[in-house]
Amino acid sequence: MHRIVVIGGGTTGTTAAFYARRTSRNCEIIVVEQERYPMYSKCKLPFAISGEVPAESPVEFLPELYERSMKVMLLLNTEVVEVDPSSKRVVPSADGRIEELSFDKLIAKEERHHVVGVQAAGASWQVDLATISMMHSAKVEDLAYLETCYAPALTSIWSPLSAAAQALLRKLR
Ligand SMILES: Cc1cc2nc3c(=O)[nH]c(=O)nc-3n(C[C@H](O)[C@H](O)[C@H](O)COP(=O)(O)OP(=O)(O)OC[C@H]3O[C@@H](n4cnc5c(N)ncnc54)[C@H](O)[C@@H]3O)c2cc1C
Repeated sequence: MHRIVVIGGGTTGTTAAFYARRTSRNCEIIVVEQERYPMYSKCKLPFAISGEVPAESPVEFLPELYERSMKVMLLLNTEVVEVDPSSKRVVPSADGRIEELSFDKLIAKEERHHVVGVQAAGASWQVDLATISMMHSAKVEDLAYLETCYAPALTSIWSPLSAAAQALLRKLR
């Protein structure tokens, strides 16, 4: 039986785990998450903090449902501190339940400057550009030096998205 280990139980990791279950009924799937919460909506956090929605409402999928409805093992409070692709092992830390975890397939996110979200208002083409960038795992550098069309009356000489990416790049460096 195959074992799939997913590092990170955010939206991406949990979606990957659940999708893996949809495509294979038999494999073992383990999600390793360093926080003490299962997947929750980060977008709802400001509203939960301001009291506009109940404090617990960002958590949309309770821990017990992982096992019961998706047959996915969820390890919370467990940080992966080492990955060894050659021996196909990850080393989770913290609660001591598991010292090493072998895997057949590993799902993890590379977070080096990838664009993961944009707060946008105004022209829809900016939003489209942002979503296409995310779909293709663009990095902040890609957006900062993007050649966009300049056609007076149709587009401005400024691309707010590139300007924002350049400002972010200055902070990252
Ligand atoms: C306040 C706020 C509001 C937002 N509002 C919106 C919105 O309105 N619209 C929108 O589209 N997006 C919004 N976003 C962005 C959206 O939440 C993110 O794009 C989304 O959460 C990304 O999901 P992810 O699973 O890729 O990453 P994350 O949510 O960052 O999940 C990654 C997970 O991996 C875990 N992890 C990392 N390293 C390890 C390790 N070594 N071992 C174990 N676990 C690890 C982390 O603890 C984390 O839980 C908002 C974000 C915030 C913070």
